[in-house]
Amino acid sequence: MYYVDPHIHMVSRITDDYVRMARAGCVALSEPAFWAGFDRGSAAAFGDYFDQLTIHEPRRAAQFGIHHMCWLCINAKEAENVALSREVLAIIPEYLDRPGVLGIGEIGLNKNTKNEVTIFEEQVDLAMKTDELILVHTPHLADKYKGTRMIIDIMTSDSRITPDRVLIDHVEEHTAKIALDAGFWVGMTLYPTTKCTTDRAVDIVERFGTERIMANSAGDWGVSDPMAMPDLLRKLRTRGHDAMSIHKLVYENPLRFFRRSKRYNFAPPIPVRE
Ligand SMILES: [Zn+2]
Repeated sequence: MYYVDPHIHMVSRITDDYVRMARAGCVALSEPAFWAGFDRGSAAAFGDYFDQLTIHEPRRAAQFGIHHMCWLCINAKEAENVALSREVLAIIPEYLDRPGVLGIGEIGLNKNTKNEVTIFEEQVDLAMKTDELILVHTPHLADKYKGTRMIIDIMTSDSRITPDRVLIDHVEEHTAKIALDAGFWVGMTLYPTTKCTTDRAVDIVERFGTERIMANSAGDWGVSDPMAMPDLLRKLRTRGHDAMSIHKLVYENPLRFFRRSKRYNFAPPIPVRE
């Protein structure tokens, strides 16, 4: 079965990961801009990273038959440096018109601080002015409910935002409903330690259905698993989900969301239904 991983940081992964993902049925992925594991020192360093995301990584992925798309932003961890964040925001428009750039992301909150909120709002403003989709990172563990609530409140009070052009990521049992009820798309992140296990992700699907919901591995430079999506496929099958609803969750839904972007450039092997 074909699948799409809508959130994975391939610049941190080795070629063997591409090989295993392709063998398991991955045909496309999207890579949000992310923290490097250390704070970058200048806007120029972000410029190099945006080149990597928009030019070099799509070429690497193509060698394995996987279509690579991406998102651009400064992440919440580096938003504490407001001056640097604003310099990065000023250069993002230069990179936005490249093929396969789906929008602004993953923006969001990490520790729910005042500086994070300031830069989050400025990036939402940039996305609205440039008519981009938005991918939102929600905080981990103890900060998750409060941070998700803050993000949803900020976004629903901005009349320019159309909720079905926004993906709220890393949702869990206690945050999926508030995001779905407000009309947003949601992503469940399958992480070995924090976030969702495959069993919990299936629980969430059984509770909330398959409308506007998708799953991802969020594989990155830390302890994470780029094969989490095929694991979820197997888990859905063993728990009795039929092939069409699995296909909708892991293939059609991410592509339905992505194709709202003006630079969506993937020709999927199976056409996506309306
Ligand atoms: Zn991420």
